[in-house]
Amino acid sequence: MSSDDVYYGDLGIIGGGVGGLGAAIIAAYKGLKVTVFEGGRLGGIVGTLYGRKILENYPGAPSILSKRLIDEFIIQVREVQAEIRSERVINVDKEDDILTIVTNEGKYNFRSVIIATGSKPAELGITGERKFSMKDRGVYNFVTDPDRFKGSTVLIVGGGDTAIDAVHMIADDAKKIYLVHRRDSFRAAETKVKQIVDDNLAEIIYEHQIAELKGETNLEKAILQNVETHMKREINIDKCILAVGMTTNLDIFEDIGVKTEGKYIKVDKEMRTNIPGIFAVGDIVTQYQLIVIAVAQGAIAAHNAFGMIRKPYWYKDEAWPTDDEE
Ligand SMILES: Cc1cc2nc3c(=O)[nH]c(=O)nc-3n(C[C@H](O)[C@H](O)[C@H](O)COP(=O)(O)OP(=O)(O)OC[C@H]3O[C@@H](n4cnc5c(N)ncnc54)[C@H](O)[C@@H]3O)c2cc1C
Repeated sequence: MSSDDVYYGDLGIIGGGVGGLGAAIIAAYKGLKVTVFEGGRLGGIVGTLYGRKILENYPGAPSILSKRLIDEFIIQVREVQAEIRSERVINVDKEDDILTIVTNEGKYNFRSVIIATGSKPAELGITGERKFSMKDRGVYNFVTDPDRFKGSTVLIVGGGDTAIDAVHMIADDAKKIYLVHRRDSFRAAETKVKQIVDDNLAEIIYEHQIAELKGETNLEKAILQNVETHMKREINIDKCILAVGMTTNLDIFEDIGVKTEGKYIKVDKEMRTNIPGIFAVGDIVTQYQLIVIAVAQGAIAAHNAFGMIRKPYWYKDEAWPTDDEE
């Protein structure tokens, strides 16, 4: 058996969001044999959480529907003949130069791996959050379907783009919207906030946080608390959108010794982790969470994976950052 027989492919990519798909397109286009492992739905959060959003900040594709952009990514992945496997990765092993991706269905050896597992909605940890998050009982993290909020009194919690986008997405259909933020100003794009204020799209409650969610089977009430005075007030609501940020899908990688920094995987400017052969890209490595950034990082990692594997004359084979380096 030749050493080539050991490998299933050149590059295994964990996560089929825009970071992973972007990396797959560049790497397969350059000639690597690439497999993308996606444990949920291809397209990651762009397709699943906000597929009906019109994207206004992806260069070269003005006012494109999120889902449409994902469809285009998938077409291109197929065009360059990268393989897509609908399997959840549960572990990664390394022995000598062989990186093994272990999934719920099998084991696959690669020369290089890119981690692109992105993020998921963060939990606040308040009473009622989990109970009403299940089975359409009233608590959500995003507006995936604006029709769900038709005729409802909706509480939206958060100060970033997600919260502000949610107001805009349901303003025409909801009966009333409360927008609660724990600070006295918003982090989101100013123009969009101004529109909410000018057009009176929501009742804004500043300097309050949500303390509890109540109801029998479905959500009925929220308890809000002033962050300064700690005074509480109760409001009647039908639905609540907790747009309180995202947390990274790190779990399995910490176990294999990938170095992290807070909730992110630590990488150098070439998108290399501390483990030789393993790169990481997208929301799992950066707080600059934009599609264009995940895609660009995917391209850098793909380029370096190609260099590392094929060793072309132009590739600068720099020493891999080790555990000890800062
Ligand atoms: C509500 C919201 C609105 C946004 N709006 C914009 C916008 O307008 N413009 C913009 O540029 N950016 C926007 N962003 C940010 C942008 O969506 C992200 O930066 C980008 O999607 C990150 O892509 P990613 O590939 O790193 O991660 P993700 O999209 O999170 O993809 C990760 C993928 O990995 C998969 N995965 C995770 N673990 C495993 C595993 N163990 N095995 C196999 N697969 C796994 C997941 O199922 C997922 O499909 C928004 C984000 C949010 C939350």
